[in-house]
Amino acid sequence: MKIGAMLGDIVRSLFKSPATVSYPVEVSPTPDRLRGKLMWDYRHCNGCGLCVKDCPANAIELVVLDRKAKRFVMEYDENRCIYCSQCVKTCRSEAMRLSNTVWELAALKQDTFKVYYGRYDDIRKHLETDVADAAAGGN
Ligand code: SF4
Ligand code: SF4
Repeated sequence: MKIGAMLGDIVRSLFKSPATVSYPVEVSPTPDRLRGKLMWDYRHCNGCGLCVKDCPANAIELVVLDRKAKRFVMEYDENRCIYCSQCVKTCRSEAMRLSNTVWELAALKQDTFKVYYGRYDDIRKHLETDVADAAAGGN
C-alpha cells in the first residue's frame, strides 16, 4: 500500500465512530437467533427423555420423580453444553429454548455451571436425595 493511500485511511478513520463498543459498560443488542443459555419449562415437559438421548455433549439429564404426576427435574451443565440446539429441535413439546438474552455465562467456579430446572419443591427433593445417596455411598 502506498503511503499516501495509507495516510488517507488514517485521516478518514479519525472522523469515524468506532466499530466496537466498550463492553461490558455498553452491550450490543443480541440477534434473535443467538444461542445462549438453555431454558427448560417443566410445565410443557412430558418426560419422554428424547432431548437427553439426542444431546451430543451429555449436558442434560432428566430426573424423573413421579412420571404419572409429571414431576421432573432437569439438570443442565452449561460447561458441557455446546449450544448446538439439538435438544430444542428434538423436543416436540416446546419445553426447551436457547435464550438470546442470557448468554454471559463465564464464571470462576465450576459448580456455577450446574443448573437445576423444575418446581422448587422438586429440585429440593432431588438435591436431598442426592445428598442422602452420597452419604450412603460414603459409608
Ligand atoms: S444445546 Fe446441544 S449440547 Fe446443549 S444441552 Fe442442548 S443438545 Fe445438549
Ligand atoms: S424432549 Fe421435551 S418433552 Fe421430552 S424430556 Fe426433553 S424437554 Fe421433556
